[in-house]
Amino acid sequence: MNSRIYKVITKKVHSIPKLTKKAQTVFNAFIRKRDQNKGCISCGAPVSEAGHYLSAGHYSALRFNEMNTNGQCTRCNCFLSGNLIHYRQGLVKRYGEAKVLMLENSVAIRSVKKWSRFELEAIIEMYKSKE
Ligand SMILES: [Zn+2]
Repeated sequence: MNSRIYKVITKKVHSIPKLTKKAQTVFNAFIRKRDQNKGCISCGAPVSEAGHYLSAGHYSALRFNEMNTNGQCTRCNCFLSGNLIHYRQGLVKRYGEAKVLMLENSVAIRSVKKWSRFELEAIIEMYKSKE
């Protein structure tokens, strides 16, 4: 059998939660790399994580939004639950008040997004190549 066809047939089918986790890992690595010299968006400390402004859990459509996800330090992301007041100030500095208001008022924040296998695989491929 042609080895390429064999590879397609035997390609492991991952569950949606597994693919979501993998896509988030690859996406977060991209964000950390993108922001490594910018400092934590909330306090300016060295970046060690990728933190969401509007949480991925509550705003599923913004899970892989590049503006909604920025480099943060562990203290702000984990211990200060995102340090959101300072996060917003950092967003305004980086993107401008108008874009932050657009993000906060986008349709995406009112919709529940079910990420499909195809979308998640595309995200994994896209951000893998940006690493
Ligand atoms: Zn911080």
